[in-house]
Amino acid sequence: MNAILPIANAGEILAPKSVAVIGASEDLTKFGGRIYKNLVHHGFKGQIYPINPKRESLLGIKCYPAIGATPTPPDMAVMAVPRDSVKEAVEACAAAGTKAAIVITAKFSDAGPEGAALEREVVSVANSAGMRIIGPNCLGIISPANDLVLCASPALFVDSMPKGDIGFVSQSGALMATIFDRAMARGIGFSHCFSIGNQADMDMCDFVDYLIADERTRVICTYIEGIKDAPRFMETARRAHAAGKPWLAVKAGRTEFGAAAAFSHTASLAGSYEAFAAACRDCGVLTMDDADAMMLLAASLGRFPKARPNSVAIVTTSGGGGAIAADRLTDRGIPLATFSDAAKADLAEHYSENVGGANPIDMGTAKQGGSMVVGAVTVKAVIKDAATDLILSAITTAPDVELLCRKLDEGTREAAAEGFAKPHIIVLQQGHSADAARSFLREQNIVYTDSLDDAIRAIEAWRRMAGVAPTTPASRPADAPRVPLAAGLGGSVGEAESKEILAAHGIPTNRGQVVSGPEEAEAAAGRLEKPFVVKVVSPDIVHKSDVGGVVLGLETPQAVAKAVSDMAASIARLKPDASIEGYLVQEMRSGKAELLIGARNDPQFGPMVIVGAGGVLVELLKDVSVARAPVSPAKAREMIEGLQIAKLMRGFRGGGALDIEAAADIISRVSWMVHDLGPRFKELDINPLLVAEAGKGCVAVDGRMLLEDA
Ligand code: ADP
Ligand code: MG
Repeated sequence: MNAILPIANAGEILAPKSVAVIGASEDLTKFGGRIYKNLVHHGFKGQIYPINPKRESLLGIKCYPAIGATPTPPDMAVMAVPRDSVKEAVEACAAAGTKAAIVITAKFSDAGPEGAALEREVVSVANSAGMRIIGPNCLGIISPANDLVLCASPALFVDSMPKGDIGFVSQSGALMATIFDRAMARGIGFSHCFSIGNQADMDMCDFVDYLIADERTRVICTYIEGIKDAPRFMETARRAHAAGKPWLAVKAGRTEFGAAAAFSHTASLAGSYEAFAAACRDCGVLTMDDADAMMLLAASLGRFPKARPNSVAIVTTSGGGGAIAADRLTDRGIPLATFSDAAKADLAEHYSENVGGANPIDMGTAKQGGSMVVGAVTVKAVIKDAATDLILSAITTAPDVELLCRKLDEGTREAAAEGFAKPHIIVLQQGHSADAARSFLREQNIVYTDSLDDAIRAIEAWRRMAGVAPTTPASRPADAPRVPLAAGLGGSVGEAESKEILAAHGIPTNRGQVVSGPEEAEAAAGRLEKPFVVKVVSPDIVHKSDVGGVVLGLETPQAVAKAVSDMAASIARLKPDASIEGYLVQEMRSGKAELLIGARNDPQFGPMVIVGAGGVLVELLKDVSVARAPVSPAKAREMIEGLQIAKLMRGFRGGGALDIEAAADIISRVSWMVHDLGPRFKELDINPLLVAEAGKGCVAVDGRMLLEDA
């Protein structure tokens, strides 16, 4: 970078004292018109410089013909000029001493290499004058905490915007404005919303850094499409965590299971989203799949930043509403609270014996008067209940939903007066019968939603937060050997060679030998222990058993010889084009379960290790755990425990427990191996690892690797 002047940091530039709007007008059909109107309307306290050569003044503020003509250099300029004028406008800003420019204009790196080249030029022009660029291809910023709106969205055409403690960084401008609008409709306010577009210069972490330092921000929300700098992302996340600011992230592209699926199962299961999610777990970022639910959680977290709720009490106006909420929570594995005796006693006063203590609490079953009468005492009882961490009020249509919400609020206040407070999410119905209730809740700044689904997602994510914290790096086992790869090795590495590499790293494999035909096969079997297995060796056959390329359970060397000639004939029929390099004669081993252990080098987050149910089950069940390598045996154990197949491995229906210990040790070794192999390593697929009874160990009976081409 050819920076002559020091480049201003986010803290200096995101709170400008003066702002120029290039192309300001009164024409609300134009970007410049809407940005200018929103800026003036929302009461920016600093100096505003409208730039428009055709006007003396705009909305009562003196206009300037060019950016260089303002009495003082504007700290920040915003432009939505045509793409071909952007560079010139940025040059003018730089010459005028502007510290930062927001470039709304699109069709830069978002539109191919030519746009990308222009984008680099624009950044270089700016940076060499010590100026920074936000965008291009963004929708500007909305900073209620700074009374600063530099955004054209009509969502800002409101009298005033609520101020809150949520900071939001969005890679999509449209989504920023939409989420801002939707959150505002629910009374949820922000400290700052930044849309960052192509991140040509200032990247997401610059904005998150600002939010970490900003006292008015308590929770950080991000909408991410792609990470530019993975190490910086993780380092920033660790700092957010250390500052006590939860960081929530929705990332697009969750279901894009890597296009390299053709090579191996592993590639199809650890696409970059899984790597991103694993990295988030390691650095303390909570991933979510929905932006509305993220805002609901952020609003709740702002009130209860330390809460890590587990069990939920459902308070409802209808048996049906309660049952559905209970089902949905249970589907997501969220436990309903079993009320303490004290809470049961509190509730028993108001509810008949047969329903007393049941969760959900259907206020319709109160001894007297229904929800209007028992709303307050019910909420108070569950807030005080030691076994309840969070209250979900599922409110169906009722004669007076507003009054009911007042009662719920009353109960909350009474509990607070006694020193008890708990997260409480109110779910209303979308119909107009709840309109008055919505206004009341907004005025009182009480968290609510019209979507049970958002509430469930928010609670599910909040529960996961307990396990989301920056991890310490795994320590290297004393006996994990560092074995360099042979120099000539590259590309796709078959089973026999892959297993040699595994064995060198202390990972148990079964013995075997590659042979060229039946006679050699028979001789090789004579040197191995029965029973035997024969497999085809071919770079063109990835899934050997699909084409009859695996024969198990052979008892004699003669049977091995016959299996080789039969296999040659059948593959010639089924896969006539495959080039056959030989046959692998190996020892057959036994196990009670099969695991897949995979690894892949994520281009951003580095080597990842993957564990799942092995054999064909992995594709069928998509039952996998992913973590950044290296992992300790303890972490590997957690990865196994997170799988469905762990139930079987712990001893299911009288089956004995399997050797989870040995499997965890192997996973850790594999993770150190791929970590040590460095950039030459691309993918590894051990499928299956046979897992025997506890104490009897594990063995890799199939393996494949992909290395950088030699
Ligand atoms: P592929 O995955 O290419 O189809 P494998 O070598 O994994 O071929 O063999 C297919 C299946 O056969 C394995 O999933 C495993 O169940 C079984 N198998 C393969 N080799 C052995 C062995 N040496 N001992 C026991 N079972 C084996
Ligand atoms: Mg296999």
